[in-house]
Parts: sequence; structure tokens; C-alpha cells
Amino acid sequence: MKTYDELKYEVKNGFCGINEAEKAEMFAFCDDYKEYLGKGKTERQCCNLSLKLAESAGFVPLSSKTSLVAGDKVYSINRGKGIILAVIGQDGVSAGTNIVGAHIDVPRLDLKPNPLYEDGGFAMFKTHYYGGIKKYQWTAIPLSIHGTVIKADGSSVDISIGEDADDPVFCISDLLPHLAQDQMSKKMSEAIPGEGLNVVIGNIPDEDKDAKERVKYYTLKILHEKYGITETDFISAEIQIVPAFMPRDIGFDRSMLAGFGQDDRVCSFAALRAVMEIENPKRTAICLLVDKEEVGSMGNTGMKSRFFENFIAKLCSLQTENYNDLLTRDALSNSMCLSADVCAAWDPNYPEVKEKRNSAIMNCGFQITKYTGARGKSGASDASAEYVGKVRKIMDDAGVMWQTGLLGKVDLGGGGTIAQYVANLDIDTLDCGVPLLSMHSPYEVAGKVDIYMAYKGYKAFMLT
Ligand code: MN
Ligand code: MN
Repeated sequence: MKTYDELKYEVKNGFCGINEAEKAEMFAFCDDYKEYLGKGKTERQCCNLSLKLAESAGFVPLSSKTSLVAGDKVYSINRGKGIILAVIGQDGVSAGTNIVGAHIDVPRLDLKPNPLYEDGGFAMFKTHYYGGIKKYQWTAIPLSIHGTVIKADGSSVDISIGEDADDPVFCISDLLPHLAQDQMSKKMSEAIPGEGLNVVIGNIPDEDKDAKERVKYYTLKILHEKYGITETDFISAEIQIVPAFMPRDIGFDRSMLAGFGQDDRVCSFAALRAVMEIENPKRTAICLLVDKEEVGSMGNTGMKSRFFENFIAKLCSLQTENYNDLLTRDALSNSMCLSADVCAAWDPNYPEVKEKRNSAIMNCGFQITKYTGARGKSGASDASAEYVGKVRKIMDDAGVMWQTGLLGKVDLGGGGTIAQYVANLDIDTLDCGVPLLSMHSPYEVAGKVDIYMAYKGYKAFMLT
């Protein structure tokens, strides 16, 4: 007769019963992740960092290959904002691939195309928020500026300021409580309007007393001196405003870590490290890091782009002298995917939005989400029981700690990931990733057990 303990589903904190060596390995992995997270504040920076790590692990550009054999490690960069890495399997690509797909874009503030103005003696930047943010969280915190500017002559220059200890930082002002009675009585969604997210960037007037806007002029002179850019160059630029803080451990026990952009760089890093450690897999292992998930996966750098299919076609064509498109179709149909994205952890400060039996609990393992979507599963990517069962077995066989979880109460809202766009390619796809507190805030919190288990889980999946 089975006992109740043997029959029931239960999660437990992953730190229970862990030995010192395992804990040290987990913490060391998270230290590496903190470095990646601190250096990768934009998708371009994450793409670059990932590329450098991949090259150090022996990956070469796919474009440099004239044929592919088992064990080859290749990558392809999508316009500097996304990267696909593959380790070629013994079975051949058309037999199917094991894909772990994550996104490296994050909710943030972008500069508008014509951002610079002077008002009340300040030089200011106009911003346009990107993705789902709570606008009030972006005032009165230190901000840094990162981006790429294409100048009139076609050359480009990168901007990155506000991260080094002796760099200046920037900020968006907020109203003092003494005068905020009108603001404080507004709805939180309306208290800070989008057009109010203007960044303070300077206050010194130029010496030229006849100049029209002397503070703006002085700022433009600094920008020209430092980066060689003019005001018109902002029109052909992508510049992001992000929190200037660095990732830190959280808690007396250091069991968690906080930082900006963990959605979804936590899964990105875990997937990247996993693919970097794959040698001679049976099936081709793929790590896919994409852009634009936070705004619907649109455009040529998002998951809806043909870039991924083209990559698979290229792999197939480099494995045969008689390529035809069916090989690519077979490769996709025979593939399977983990859509690696974060989810919401159960939060003791906000129990009212969660249904506890179907919530991920911090540090109880990485989360498997059978379906996403909103309310009546609208827009859901729903993995089949067969596929969830398959993934569950892979995790159990590899000793990976996992748990089930949904975003929140069914009537309250919902969300989606890249899963649906991968699934549309006729690929079995399941969402699984790391539970977070304060998701989409400037300071997201993740548990170290969950981060480490995501890495172990992705690696086990790639090696299947
Ligand atoms: Mn995400
Ligand atoms: Mn997100």
C-alpha cells in the first residue's frame, strides 16, 4: 500500500537537504550569471556578451562553414540583437533538434527619435516606454544610458554611460509629497503619464550668451565632443534608459538575487551556459535568444521572424549535397522546444492575485507552465499532456528539481511568451523558466535554486 507521501504532489525548498558542495556550485553559477546580467543591459549588449562566451567555448560563425558534421558548434547573429547557437547532433538536423528559446529584450524606456529639449533651465530627454512597465517605478532611481547611433556618414558609435562608479547617472524627477495631493489621489496607472517620463540630463548653460537654448546647446556640445554626434543623429539611433544598479544577492542567507532585466536574461544565461557545455549530442542542441518578445515578438528580430527557419534551412543544406525544402520541414516537425521564460513566483505581499496550488514557490525548482494565455486560455500556447510528460521524465531522470505553476488567478489577466510562435512551426513546445518576484520592475528577484535548476534542466533537455 502506498503512503500519502508517495501519492501526493508536493514541492519543497531546494536548500533543504542540500550539501555544501552543491550549494557552492549553485552560488558560483549565480555569481557568473550576476556578471552577465550586470554587463548586459540591452539586447545588443546581451547578444555581444553571449557571442563572446560562445566563441570562448569553441563556437564559430555558421557563415564560415561549407559543410556540417556531428559535434560542430556554430552560431548566427540576427542584426546584433539576437543569436542562435547550435551543436550539431549525430542524428542529422532533419531528424529534429532540441531547442531552448529565451528572449534578451526587456521592458525599459527608449529615447524618442527627437528626444533632446530644454525646459526650465534643464536639458531633458523624451522617452517612449517599451513593454509592460509600471511607470511610477521609473522615477527617482539612478538611470544609465546605452545605445547605438548611426551618424550621417553611415558610421556608428556606441553609447554606454552610468554603470561605472565614477560615471554620472541620470534620473526622472518625481513630485515631493508636500505638493502631491492631486497626484496621490490618482489611479497608479495615471499618476505618472507616459509623457512625464522625461530624463534630466544637464543644467549648465553654454557660455555663448546669444545662443538660443544655452543648456541644450551645452549638452549637444558635450555629446558631440564625446561621441561625435549631432541632434539629427538621434533619429537614426536606438538608445535605451535602464536602471543603473548592479545585480546583488538578496537575504541574510543570500538565497536569492535581484537585478534589472532578469525577465528573461535569467533563462537566456541558463540556456547559453547549457549549450556551451554540450559535446557531441545525439540530436542537434539549439539555444535561441531573440529580441522583441516584450512587444509581441514582431519584426525581423522577434520570434515571428523567418530568421529561425532560415537558420534551420541553412543547417540542413550544409549537411547534404541534394538539399530540398522538405529537409527543413522535417527538421522543424521533428524538433521539440522549451520556451524558456520567467513567471511570477508566489508573493506573500500579494497573495490575492495567486492561486497557491498552481503557483510556483521561490527556490522550489524551475517552473513548468503547461499553458499561458489570459482568462479562458485566450492566446494560450498549451503543451500536450504527452509532451509535458516527456519533459517531466527528462527532468526527473536528470535529478532536476521542478514545479508546476501558472501566472495567477484565471480572471485577473495573463500573458504569453515566444512559445506560441515556435509551436506554430509544428514544434512541440512547453513553457518553463524561473519564477520571479517583482517581474517587469527595475529590480526583479529570482531564487538561486531555481536559476541553477533551469540551467540543469535546459542542459538535460538539450542532451536528450
Ligand atoms: Mn519574458
Ligand atoms: Mn516579460
